[in-house]
Amino acid sequence: MSSNMHIERVCKFCNSKFIARTTKTQYCSNKCSSRAYKQAARREKLEIARVEESITGKFRTKVKFLELEGKQLLTITEASAYLNITHLTLRRWIKEKRILSSRIGKKHLIRKDYLDTLIL
Ligand SMILES: [Zn+2]
Repeated sequence: MSSNMHIERVCKFCNSKFIARTTKTQYCSNKCSSRAYKQAARREKLEIARVEESITGKFRTKVKFLELEGKQLLTITEASAYLNITHLTLRRWIKEKRILSSRIGKKHLIRKDYLDTLIL
């Protein structure tokens, strides 16, 4: 990298002007660079937590886990809650024949004891 490059830039973190030595420099200092990195990592973590919360939140409203007790045949919604996966994943698994289901009309029914055999 050439060291006689002088590009006037605005720091992406603190918005102050600085002279960049390389075209890739985005921050005025190592401090801003590491702060920006930490901020992005934190944001990503929060984003993941939010997504997980919204998935489990949906489960809670749709299926009360205890209601599955004593049931032998589960719908897609119930079975996905039982396996702690989203109904979209379960539908994909059924399509890929990773999980067998019986189709009655438009409804997929899955035996709970069959799901138990999948979980070792
Ligand atoms: Zn800065």
